[in-house]
Amino acid sequence: MYENLLAQPASNLLVQDIRTDKLPPSILFSGESASGKLTAALETARILSCLAGSAEWTCPCASCQKHRLLIHPDLLLAGPKDCLPEIRAASQAFLRNGQAASRFLFIRSVRKLVLRFDPAMYEGDETRYARSISSLGSIAEDLEDFELLTAGSAETAVVEKKVASIVNEAEKLETGTMYEAVPVSMIRKIASWSHLAPYGKKKIVIIERADRMQDSARNAFLKILEEPPRDVVFILTTSRRGAILPTILSRVRTYGFISRPMDVQQSVITRVFHDTPLENETLDQYFSRFLPVPPEKIRETAAGFVQLVLREAQTAGRIPPESIQSVLAGEQTGDRSETITDLVASLNKCKPDSIWRRFLVSVTAIFSRALREQTLSPRDSRIYAEWNSGLREALLVVDTYNLSPVAALEKLSVEMRNAL
Ligand SMILES: [Zn+2]
Repeated sequence: MYENLLAQPASNLLVQDIRTDKLPPSILFSGESASGKLTAALETARILSCLAGSAEWTCPCASCQKHRLLIHPDLLLAGPKDCLPEIRAASQAFLRNGQAASRFLFIRSVRKLVLRFDPAMYEGDETRYARSISSLGSIAEDLEDFELLTAGSAETAVVEKKVASIVNEAEKLETGTMYEAVPVSMIRKIASWSHLAPYGKKKIVIIERADRMQDSARNAFLKILEEPPRDVVFILTTSRRGAILPTILSRVRTYGFISRPMDVQQSVITRVFHDTPLENETLDQYFSRFLPVPPEKIRETAAGFVQLVLREAQTAGRIPPESIQSVLAGEQTGDRSETITDLVASLNKCKPDSIWRRFLVSVTAIFSRALREQTLSPRDSRIYAEWNSGLREALLVVDTYNLSPVAALEKLSVEMRNAL
């Protein structure tokens, strides 16, 4: 059990609870991104449905086979997630070494995206579902071809073309049709699905980034938790446990996921993705290599944003702290954006939203370096405290209230100026 979840102590607790039959019907996996929460959730689904009982990763039972391929009819996966970095990383791992394990890694990475478009959750939502149908069809066909091609001795160029086509369709599917937060209509459909008897032993519903549900969806979900259907286990995941409604928290058992040691994260990059990590590169940073905006561009744009704010402040006669000026003097700022709209556009409009998160982290890093620069005057300390609280607010309004990054940055820049 949980053999593929490396160095994550939560797995011991889960094994213990499963073996003693004490796993509650609703659980929450809480921890940073790339700490293995989804891997653990999918593994829990497989273990609970295993027909052989022993539930080791290599179990030959029909249920485990379906779960390993992520095609079990008793599994639903909902919640917004940028699946493309993992799909791209896995596709390159496969093209580099062609091994069966990498082929499997790639297929699973694609299915982790496809699963989010299960018709059971989209019925009645005609526009969005209709939009996803053609991509879903092409991906299913291409995956079938891919399996046949790689089982035989197809030419490398043919396989490469097929992989490229799958990645391309996956991108269309994700950018065109994924919900930014699970809507109430989807929760209602999940509720009806949960009340139907399972094909096998257990039904599993995984909701990723459960903190992003809107009020109406949260309330509908709360109703399910109040009277949990038989034979269903709900697994929520989050990296912001504090943003989950206390009434939901009181009905789930939380399993905390730790941020794993650097050597473990690097060995995932080496052993699973067959790639070479940079010095001190975390798994999360590794996946960011596959974002549409490279990490160094995000850092440069963060410096560009602070410069833009300071330029406008100085024009208005305000005086920024010296320490921020000297830190910015040593930063690459790339293209100088004249407006916040241009700046956000140069970041692929902050889509997927991990780009937005990384952008704010880069701005925070600039402030932290400035804070270390020299002894601060009381005025400077107050300014940095206000700027940092503005940054936290910016993250919150976009994540929780779906404000656009442009609007959030406009607001932040006014607050930063007013603090001077
Ligand atoms: Zn089994």
